Amino acid sequence: MLKRIESGLSRPWYRLRLPDALEAQYRAETARLSGFYVQSWLAVFTLFNILSLVMDREVFGPQDFAVPLAMTLGVFCPVALASIISLRGRPTMVRVSVAVLATALVDIVVVLNSARLAPASHTDVYIIIATIVPLVVGLIAPLPFRHCLWFCGASFALYVGLVVGLGLFSAERSGLPLLVSGLILVPLKLCYSREWDARNTFLIGLRVKLQAEALARANARLTVLSETDSLTALSNRRHFTERLGAAWGLAGEQDGWLGVILIDIDHFKRLNDTAGHAEGDRCLVAVAAALQTSVEAWGGLAARYGGEEFAVLLPGADPVQARAVGEVVRAAVADLAIRHPGLVANRPVTVSVGVTAARGRTRDFGIQVSDLLKAADFALYAAKNEGRNRVESFLPAANANRPTGSADRVLTAAPPG
Ligand code: GH3
Ligand code: MG
Ligand code: MG
Repeated sequence: MLKRIESGLSRPWYRLRLPDALEAQYRAETARLSGFYVQSWLAVFTLFNILSLVMDREVFGPQDFAVPLAMTLGVFCPVALASIISLRGRPTMVRVSVAVLATALVDIVVVLNSARLAPASHTDVYIIIATIVPLVVGLIAPLPFRHCLWFCGASFALYVGLVVGLGLFSAERSGLPLLVSGLILVPLKLCYSREWDARNTFLIGLRVKLQAEALARANARLTVLSETDSLTALSNRRHFTERLGAAWGLAGEQDGWLGVILIDIDHFKRLNDTAGHAEGDRCLVAVAAALQTSVEAWGGLAARYGGEEFAVLLPGADPVQARAVGEVVRAAVADLAIRHPGLVANRPVTVSVGVTAARGRTRDFGIQVSDLLKAADFALYAAKNEGRNRVESFLPAANANRPTGSADRVLTAAPPG
Protein backbone atom coordinates (compact mmCIF):
# COMPACT_ATOMS: atom_id res chain seq x y z
CA MET A 1 0.00 0.00 0.00
CA LEU A 2 2.78 2.41 0.95
CA LYS A 3 4.47 1.64 -2.38
CA ARG A 4 1.28 2.47 -4.26
CA ILE A 5 1.00 5.74 -2.31
CA GLU A 6 4.59 6.64 -3.22
CA SER A 7 3.97 5.84 -6.90
CA GLY A 8 0.79 7.97 -6.72
CA LEU A 9 2.75 10.87 -5.27
CA SER A 10 5.36 10.67 -8.01
CA ARG A 11 2.92 10.41 -10.94
CA PRO A 12 3.46 12.89 -13.81
CA TRP A 13 1.66 16.25 -13.69
CA TYR A 14 -0.72 15.33 -16.51
CA ARG A 15 -2.03 12.25 -14.70
CA LEU A 16 -4.63 13.36 -12.21
CA ARG A 17 -5.91 9.83 -11.68
CA LEU A 18 -4.41 7.80 -8.84
CA PRO A 19 -3.51 4.09 -8.98
CA ASP A 20 -6.78 2.10 -9.09
CA ALA A 21 -7.49 1.14 -5.45
CA LEU A 22 -6.41 4.56 -4.23
CA GLU A 23 -8.55 6.29 -6.84
CA ALA A 24 -11.61 4.38 -5.63
CA GLN A 25 -10.84 5.27 -2.01
CA TYR A 26 -10.25 8.92 -2.90
CA ARG A 27 -13.54 9.12 -4.77
CA ALA A 28 -15.42 7.42 -1.96
CA GLU A 29 -14.01 9.89 0.55
CA THR A 30 -14.65 12.95 -1.62
CA ALA A 31 -17.99 11.86 -3.08
CA ARG A 32 -19.80 14.23 -0.73
CA LEU A 33 -18.95 17.57 0.72
CA SER A 34 -20.56 20.02 3.05
CA GLY A 35 -23.19 21.77 0.93
CA PHE A 36 -23.05 24.94 3.02
CA TYR A 37 -19.86 26.20 1.37
CA VAL A 38 -21.35 26.19 -2.15
CA GLN A 39 -24.77 27.27 -0.86
CA SER A 40 -23.30 30.40 0.70
CA TRP A 41 -21.45 31.29 -2.51
CA LEU A 42 -24.55 30.74 -4.63
CA ALA A 43 -26.46 33.00 -2.25
CA VAL A 44 -23.85 35.74 -2.70
CA PHE A 45 -23.98 35.20 -6.46
CA THR A 46 -27.77 35.50 -6.42
CA LEU A 47 -27.58 38.67 -4.35
CA PHE A 48 -25.13 40.13 -6.85
CA ASN A 49 -27.61 39.40 -9.67
CA ILE A 50 -30.40 41.13 -7.76
CA LEU A 51 -28.20 44.17 -7.12
CA SER A 52 -27.28 44.29 -10.84
CA LEU A 53 -30.94 45.17 -11.48
CA VAL A 54 -29.94 48.72 -10.50
CA MET A 55 -27.68 48.83 -13.59
CA ASP A 56 -30.40 47.19 -15.70
CA ARG A 57 -32.83 49.94 -14.69
CA GLU A 58 -30.39 52.64 -15.74
CA VAL A 59 -29.61 50.93 -19.05
CA PHE A 60 -33.16 49.95 -20.01
CA GLY A 61 -35.01 52.90 -18.58
CA PRO A 62 -38.22 52.61 -16.53
CA GLN A 63 -40.37 51.30 -19.44
CA ASP A 64 -38.18 48.42 -20.69
CA PHE A 65 -36.83 47.48 -17.26
CA ALA A 66 -39.72 45.01 -16.83
CA VAL A 67 -37.99 42.39 -19.04
CA PRO A 68 -34.65 42.07 -17.16
CA LEU A 69 -36.59 42.37 -13.90
CA ALA A 70 -38.89 39.48 -14.87
CA MET A 71 -35.97 37.38 -16.17
CA THR A 72 -33.92 37.90 -13.01
CA LEU A 73 -36.70 37.51 -10.44
CA GLY A 74 -38.90 35.10 -12.39
CA VAL A 75 -36.31 32.82 -14.02
CA PHE A 76 -32.84 33.20 -12.51
CA CYS A 77 -33.78 33.59 -8.84
CA PRO A 78 -36.08 30.49 -8.69
CA VAL A 79 -33.39 28.34 -10.37
CA ALA A 80 -30.68 29.70 -8.04
CA LEU A 81 -32.94 29.19 -5.02
CA ALA A 82 -33.78 25.62 -6.07
CA SER A 83 -30.03 24.96 -6.50
CA ILE A 84 -29.27 26.33 -3.05
CA ILE A 85 -32.03 24.23 -1.48
CA SER A 86 -30.85 21.09 -3.32
CA LEU A 87 -27.44 21.44 -1.68
CA ARG A 88 -28.58 21.12 1.94
CA GLY A 89 -26.80 18.55 4.11
CA ARG A 90 -23.94 16.66 2.48
CA PRO A 91 -24.76 16.54 -1.25
CA THR A 92 -22.90 14.34 -3.74
CA MET A 93 -20.39 16.05 -6.05
CA VAL A 94 -22.70 15.27 -8.98
CA ARG A 95 -25.52 17.19 -7.32
CA VAL A 96 -23.21 20.13 -6.59
CA SER A 97 -22.05 20.20 -10.20
CA VAL A 98 -25.62 20.05 -11.56
CA ALA A 99 -26.75 22.86 -9.23
CA VAL A 100 -23.78 25.02 -10.17
CA LEU A 101 -24.18 24.33 -13.89
CA ALA A 102 -27.94 25.08 -13.84
CA THR A 103 -27.41 28.38 -12.02
CA ALA A 104 -24.61 29.49 -14.34
CA LEU A 105 -26.35 28.48 -17.59
CA VAL A 106 -29.60 30.21 -16.66
CA ASP A 107 -27.66 33.32 -15.72
CA ILE A 108 -25.84 33.31 -19.06
CA VAL A 109 -29.22 33.11 -20.83
CA VAL A 110 -30.63 35.97 -18.71
CA VAL A 111 -27.61 38.24 -19.29
CA LEU A 112 -27.35 37.52 -23.03
CA ASN A 113 -31.08 38.15 -23.35
CA SER A 114 -30.41 41.56 -21.81
CA ALA A 115 -27.55 42.00 -24.31
CA ARG A 116 -30.04 41.36 -27.12
CA LEU A 117 -32.58 43.87 -25.81
CA ALA A 118 -30.28 46.57 -24.41
CA PRO A 119 -29.45 49.71 -26.37
CA ALA A 120 -26.60 48.97 -28.80
CA SER A 121 -24.15 51.05 -26.79
CA HIS A 122 -24.50 48.59 -23.87
CA THR A 123 -24.56 45.28 -25.76
CA ASP A 124 -20.83 44.60 -25.29
CA VAL A 125 -21.08 45.22 -21.57
CA TYR A 126 -23.74 42.50 -21.21
CA ILE A 127 -21.83 40.14 -23.51
CA ILE A 128 -18.73 40.55 -21.36
CA ILE A 129 -20.72 40.15 -18.14
CA ALA A 130 -22.07 36.87 -19.58
CA THR A 131 -18.50 35.56 -19.97
CA ILE A 132 -17.70 36.47 -16.42
CA VAL A 133 -20.61 34.37 -15.09
CA PRO A 134 -19.02 30.93 -15.70
CA LEU A 135 -15.66 32.35 -14.70
CA VAL A 136 -16.94 33.43 -11.29
CA VAL A 137 -19.06 30.33 -10.73
CA GLY A 138 -16.22 28.06 -11.88
CA LEU A 139 -13.88 29.78 -9.45
CA ILE A 140 -16.11 29.59 -6.41
CA ALA A 141 -17.45 26.04 -6.82
CA PRO A 142 -14.97 23.34 -5.72
CA LEU A 143 -15.86 21.02 -8.64
CA PRO A 144 -13.80 17.94 -9.47
CA PHE A 145 -11.78 18.55 -12.63
CA ARG A 146 -13.88 16.21 -14.78
CA HIS A 147 -17.07 18.03 -13.70
CA CYS A 148 -15.37 21.37 -14.30
CA LEU A 149 -14.60 20.25 -17.86
CA TRP A 150 -18.31 19.62 -18.41
CA PHE A 151 -19.24 22.86 -16.70
CA CYS A 152 -16.82 24.99 -18.74
CA GLY A 153 -17.61 23.16 -21.99
CA ALA A 154 -21.38 23.57 -21.55
CA SER A 155 -21.05 27.23 -20.51
CA PHE A 156 -18.77 28.03 -23.41
CA ALA A 157 -20.99 26.22 -25.93
CA LEU A 158 -24.13 27.97 -24.65
CA TYR A 159 -22.39 31.31 -24.66
CA VAL A 160 -21.01 31.02 -28.19
CA GLY A 161 -24.27 29.49 -29.42
CA LEU A 162 -26.33 32.36 -28.03
CA VAL A 163 -23.91 35.11 -29.09
CA VAL A 164 -23.98 33.77 -32.64
CA GLY A 165 -27.62 32.60 -32.62
CA LEU A 166 -29.01 35.85 -31.22
CA GLY A 167 -26.99 37.81 -33.75
CA LEU A 168 -24.93 39.49 -31.07
CA PHE A 169 -21.66 38.89 -32.89
CA SER A 170 -21.11 41.13 -35.85
CA ALA A 171 -18.13 42.18 -37.93
CA GLU A 172 -18.04 45.73 -36.60
CA ARG A 173 -18.05 44.51 -33.03
CA SER A 174 -14.64 43.84 -31.58
CA GLY A 175 -13.53 40.28 -30.86
CA LEU A 176 -13.18 41.24 -27.22
CA PRO A 177 -16.24 39.31 -25.96
CA LEU A 178 -15.01 36.08 -27.47
CA LEU A 179 -11.53 36.75 -26.24
CA VAL A 180 -12.85 37.32 -22.74
CA SER A 181 -14.76 34.05 -22.98
CA GLY A 182 -11.34 32.41 -23.11
CA LEU A 183 -11.15 33.23 -19.41
CA ILE A 184 -12.99 29.94 -19.01
CA LEU A 185 -9.49 28.46 -18.96
CA VAL A 186 -8.96 30.03 -15.53
CA PRO A 187 -11.47 27.86 -13.61
CA LEU A 188 -10.23 24.86 -15.57
CA LYS A 189 -6.66 25.45 -14.46
CA LEU A 190 -7.77 26.25 -10.92
CA CYS A 191 -9.86 23.07 -10.69
CA TYR A 192 -7.00 20.99 -12.01
CA SER A 193 -4.53 22.42 -9.50
CA ARG A 194 -7.08 22.21 -6.69
CA GLU A 195 -7.78 18.57 -7.42
CA TRP A 196 -4.09 17.74 -7.89
CA ASP A 197 -3.38 19.21 -4.45
CA ALA A 198 -6.43 17.51 -2.90
CA ARG A 199 -5.32 14.12 -4.22
CA ASN A 200 -1.78 14.60 -2.98
CA THR A 201 -3.04 15.74 0.40
CA PHE A 202 -5.21 12.60 0.48
CA LEU A 203 -2.18 10.42 -0.34
CA ILE A 204 0.01 12.11 2.26
CA GLY A 205 -2.75 11.81 4.88
CA LEU A 206 -3.15 8.12 4.04
CA ARG A 207 0.61 7.59 4.29
CA VAL A 208 0.73 9.29 7.68
CA LYS A 209 -2.23 7.19 8.86
CA LEU A 210 -0.68 3.91 7.67
CA GLN A 211 2.68 4.79 9.18
CA ALA A 212 1.01 5.71 12.48
CA GLU A 213 -0.88 2.40 12.47
CA ALA A 214 2.30 0.44 11.71
CA LEU A 215 4.09 2.29 14.50
CA ALA A 216 1.25 1.60 16.94
CA ARG A 217 1.33 -2.11 16.00
CA ALA A 218 5.11 -2.22 16.40
CA ASN A 219 4.84 -0.47 19.76
CA ALA A 220 2.15 -2.86 20.93
CA ARG A 221 4.33 -5.78 19.86
CA LEU A 222 7.35 -4.29 21.58
CA THR A 223 5.33 -3.81 24.74
CA VAL A 224 4.26 -7.46 24.65
CA LEU A 225 7.84 -8.56 23.94
CA SER A 226 9.21 -6.42 26.75
CA GLU A 227 6.73 -7.98 29.17
CA THR A 228 6.96 -11.59 28.01
CA ASP A 229 9.44 -14.38 28.63
CA SER A 230 10.43 -15.70 25.23
CA LEU A 231 10.76 -19.36 26.24
CA THR A 232 7.60 -19.89 28.26
CA ALA A 233 5.43 -16.99 26.99
CA LEU A 234 4.60 -16.13 30.61
CA SER A 235 5.10 -12.59 31.90
CA ASN A 236 8.72 -11.82 32.63
CA ARG A 237 10.19 -10.69 35.91
CA ARG A 238 10.01 -6.97 35.03
CA HIS A 239 6.32 -7.15 34.19
CA PHE A 240 5.64 -9.21 37.31
CA THR A 241 7.46 -6.66 39.49
CA GLU A 242 5.49 -3.79 37.95
CA ARG A 243 2.19 -5.58 38.44
CA LEU A 244 3.14 -6.56 41.98
CA GLY A 245 3.83 -2.91 42.87
CA ALA A 246 0.52 -1.81 41.34
CA ALA A 247 -1.42 -4.63 43.02
CA TRP A 248 0.10 -3.83 46.43
CA GLY A 249 -0.83 -0.16 45.91
CA LEU A 250 -4.42 -1.15 45.09
CA ALA A 251 -4.60 -3.56 48.01
CA GLY A 252 -3.48 -0.67 50.24
CA GLU A 253 -6.21 1.63 48.93
CA GLN A 254 -8.94 -0.99 49.25
CA ASP A 255 -7.48 -2.86 52.23
CA GLY A 256 -7.69 -6.07 50.22
CA TRP A 257 -5.57 -9.20 50.44
CA LEU A 258 -2.69 -9.90 48.12
CA GLY A 259 -1.10 -13.32 47.73
CA VAL A 260 2.36 -13.95 46.30
CA ILE A 261 3.77 -17.37 45.41
CA LEU A 262 7.31 -18.33 44.39
CA ILE A 263 7.83 -21.69 42.71
CA ASP A 264 11.16 -23.39 42.06
CA ILE A 265 11.71 -26.62 40.10
CA ASP A 266 13.41 -29.28 42.22
CA HIS A 267 16.78 -30.64 41.15
CA PHE A 268 16.54 -28.86 37.85
CA LYS A 269 20.29 -28.62 37.35
CA ARG A 270 20.42 -32.40 37.58
CA LEU A 271 17.68 -32.64 34.91
CA ASN A 272 19.79 -30.48 32.59
CA ASP A 273 22.86 -32.54 33.35
CA THR A 274 21.21 -35.91 32.76
CA ALA A 275 18.49 -35.28 30.13
CA GLY A 276 20.13 -32.36 28.37
CA HIS A 277 19.49 -28.65 28.18
CA ALA A 278 16.82 -29.02 25.47
CA GLU A 279 14.87 -31.38 27.68
CA GLY A 280 15.30 -28.83 30.49
CA ASP A 281 13.77 -26.18 28.26
CA ARG A 282 10.82 -28.43 27.41
CA CYS A 283 10.32 -29.04 31.12
CA LEU A 284 10.28 -25.26 31.77
CA VAL A 285 7.63 -24.79 29.06
CA ALA A 286 5.46 -27.61 30.42
CA VAL A 287 5.71 -26.36 34.02
CA ALA A 288 4.88 -22.82 32.85
CA ALA A 289 1.76 -24.06 31.05
CA ALA A 290 0.61 -26.02 34.10
CA LEU A 291 1.24 -22.97 36.27
CA GLN A 292 -0.74 -20.75 33.95
CA THR A 293 -3.70 -23.13 33.96
CA SER A 294 -3.57 -23.50 37.73
CA VAL A 295 -3.73 -19.77 38.49
CA GLU A 296 -6.11 -18.83 35.68
CA ALA A 297 -9.17 -19.80 37.70
CA TRP A 298 -8.11 -17.33 40.38
CA GLY A 299 -7.33 -14.57 37.89
CA GLY A 300 -3.73 -14.54 39.04
CA LEU A 301 -0.69 -13.48 37.06
CA ALA A 302 1.94 -16.16 36.44
CA ALA A 303 5.47 -15.12 35.53
CA ARG A 304 8.87 -16.60 34.93
CA TYR A 305 10.87 -15.02 37.72
CA GLY A 306 14.23 -16.24 36.42
CA GLY A 307 15.95 -19.52 35.52
CA GLU A 308 13.74 -22.33 36.79
CA GLU A 309 11.88 -20.08 39.20
CA PHE A 310 8.35 -18.81 38.72
CA ALA A 311 6.17 -16.31 40.55
CA VAL A 312 2.44 -15.84 40.90
CA LEU A 313 0.44 -12.80 41.90
CA LEU A 314 -2.95 -13.44 43.47
CA PRO A 315 -4.94 -10.25 44.04
CA GLY A 316 -7.59 -10.78 46.70
CA ALA A 317 -6.12 -14.05 48.02
CA ASP A 318 -5.78 -14.39 51.81
CA PRO A 319 -3.13 -16.73 53.28
CA VAL A 320 -5.41 -19.77 53.22
CA GLN A 321 -6.52 -19.16 49.64
CA ALA A 322 -2.99 -18.39 48.47
CA ARG A 323 -1.73 -21.56 50.04
CA ALA A 324 -4.53 -23.53 48.36
CA VAL A 325 -3.51 -22.16 44.97
CA GLY A 326 0.11 -23.06 45.82
CA GLU A 327 -0.98 -26.60 46.50
CA VAL A 328 -2.90 -26.74 43.19
CA VAL A 329 0.27 -25.62 41.40
CA ARG A 330 2.44 -28.20 43.17
CA ALA A 331 0.00 -31.00 42.39
CA ALA A 332 -0.44 -29.88 38.75
CA VAL A 333 3.32 -30.09 38.13
CA ALA A 334 3.58 -33.46 39.85
CA ASP A 335 0.67 -34.70 37.73
CA LEU A 336 2.59 -33.81 34.56
CA ALA A 337 4.82 -36.76 35.48
CA ILE A 338 7.77 -35.33 33.56
CA ARG A 339 10.51 -37.93 33.52
CA HIS A 340 13.60 -36.92 35.54
CA PRO A 341 16.51 -39.25 34.77
CA GLY A 342 18.55 -37.66 37.55
CA LEU A 343 16.23 -38.87 40.34
CA VAL A 344 15.99 -42.32 41.85
CA ALA A 345 12.93 -44.59 41.74
CA ASN A 346 11.43 -42.90 38.66
CA ARG A 347 10.47 -39.82 40.65
CA PRO A 348 9.12 -37.16 38.27
CA VAL A 349 9.90 -33.45 38.11
CA THR A 350 8.41 -31.60 41.09
CA VAL A 351 8.34 -28.05 42.40
CA SER A 352 8.74 -26.46 45.79
CA VAL A 353 6.35 -23.64 46.56
CA GLY A 354 6.69 -20.66 48.91
CA VAL A 355 3.53 -18.71 49.70
CA THR A 356 2.79 -15.45 51.44
CA ALA A 357 -0.16 -13.09 51.65
CA ALA A 358 -0.71 -9.73 53.25
CA ARG A 359 -3.54 -7.36 53.85
CA GLY A 360 -3.31 -3.92 52.23
CA ARG A 361 -3.59 -2.05 55.49
CA THR A 362 -0.28 -3.60 56.70
CA ARG A 363 1.31 -1.09 54.35
CA ASP A 364 0.68 1.44 57.10
CA PHE A 365 2.82 -0.70 59.42
CA GLY A 366 5.71 -0.65 56.97
CA ILE A 367 5.11 -3.82 54.99
CA GLN A 368 6.47 -3.27 51.49
CA VAL A 369 6.50 -5.24 48.27
CA SER A 370 10.03 -6.40 49.06
CA ASP A 371 8.77 -7.84 52.38
CA LEU A 372 6.19 -9.93 50.53
CA LEU A 373 8.85 -11.27 48.19
CA LYS A 374 11.17 -12.00 51.14
CA ALA A 375 8.42 -13.88 52.94
CA ALA A 376 7.58 -15.96 49.85
CA ASP A 377 11.27 -16.60 49.25
CA PHE A 378 11.79 -17.68 52.82
CA ALA A 379 8.79 -19.99 52.58
CA LEU A 380 10.27 -21.46 49.39
CA TYR A 381 13.59 -21.93 51.15
CA ALA A 382 11.76 -23.73 53.94
CA ALA A 383 9.96 -25.96 51.42
CA LYS A 384 13.32 -26.90 49.89
CA ASN A 385 14.81 -27.57 53.31
CA GLU A 386 11.95 -29.73 54.39
CA GLY A 387 12.22 -32.13 51.52
CA ARG A 388 11.03 -30.35 48.31
CA ASN A 389 7.78 -31.06 46.42
CA ARG A 390 5.89 -29.22 49.13
CA VAL A 391 4.23 -25.91 49.95
CA GLU A 392 5.29 -23.63 52.81
CA SER A 393 3.84 -20.27 53.75
CA PHE A 394 4.83 -17.27 55.86
CA LEU A 395 3.42 -13.89 56.68
CA PRO A 396 5.64 -10.97 55.78
CA ALA A 397 7.34 -8.92 58.50
CA ALA A 398 8.36 -5.30 58.14
CA ASN A 399 12.03 -4.35 57.87
CA ALA A 400 13.23 -7.90 58.41
CA ASN A 401 15.79 -9.52 56.16
CA ARG A 402 13.70 -12.62 56.33
CA PRO A 403 10.58 -13.52 58.31
CA THR A 404 11.85 -14.93 61.53
CA GLY A 405 10.69 -17.56 64.00
CA SER A 406 7.77 -19.90 63.93
CA ALA A 407 5.41 -17.13 65.02
CA ASP A 408 5.46 -15.78 61.43
CA ARG A 409 4.59 -19.09 60.04
CA VAL A 410 0.88 -19.12 59.48
CA LEU A 411 0.26 -22.59 58.16
CA THR A 412 2.38 -25.65 58.29
CA ALA A 413 3.22 -27.46 55.10
CA ALA A 414 1.21 -30.50 54.26
CA PRO A 415 3.46 -33.35 53.25
CA PRO A 416 3.02 -34.26 49.62
CA GLY A 417 0.90 -37.26 48.88
P1 GH3 B 1 17.01 -27.04 43.79
O1 GH3 B 1 16.13 -28.25 43.87
O2 GH3 B 1 17.68 -26.73 45.05
O3 GH3 B 1 16.27 -25.88 43.26
O4 GH3 B 1 18.14 -27.40 42.78
P2 GH3 B 1 18.30 -26.92 41.30
O5 GH3 B 1 19.23 -27.78 40.57
O6 GH3 B 1 16.93 -26.82 40.69
O7 GH3 B 1 18.81 -25.45 41.46
P3 GH3 B 1 20.06 -24.71 40.87
O8 GH3 B 1 19.85 -23.26 41.18
O9 GH3 B 1 21.33 -25.32 41.35
O10 GH3 B 1 19.97 -24.95 39.33
C1 GH3 B 1 19.12 -24.22 38.50
C2 GH3 B 1 19.52 -24.57 37.08
O11 GH3 B 1 18.60 -24.04 36.17
C3 GH3 B 1 20.89 -24.06 36.73
C4 GH3 B 1 20.71 -23.51 35.31
O12 GH3 B 1 21.61 -24.09 34.41
C5 GH3 B 1 19.33 -23.95 34.93
N1 GH3 B 1 18.65 -23.03 34.05
C6 GH3 B 1 18.42 -21.72 34.24
N2 GH3 B 1 17.77 -21.18 33.20
C7 GH3 B 1 17.59 -22.21 32.31
C8 GH3 B 1 16.96 -22.29 31.01
O13 GH3 B 1 16.46 -21.32 30.45
N3 GH3 B 1 16.97 -23.51 30.41
C9 GH3 B 1 17.53 -24.59 30.98
N4 GH3 B 1 17.46 -25.75 30.35
N5 GH3 B 1 18.12 -24.54 32.19
C10 GH3 B 1 18.16 -23.36 32.84
MG1 MG C 1 15.58 -25.40 41.46
MG1 MG D 1 16.46 -21.91 41.62
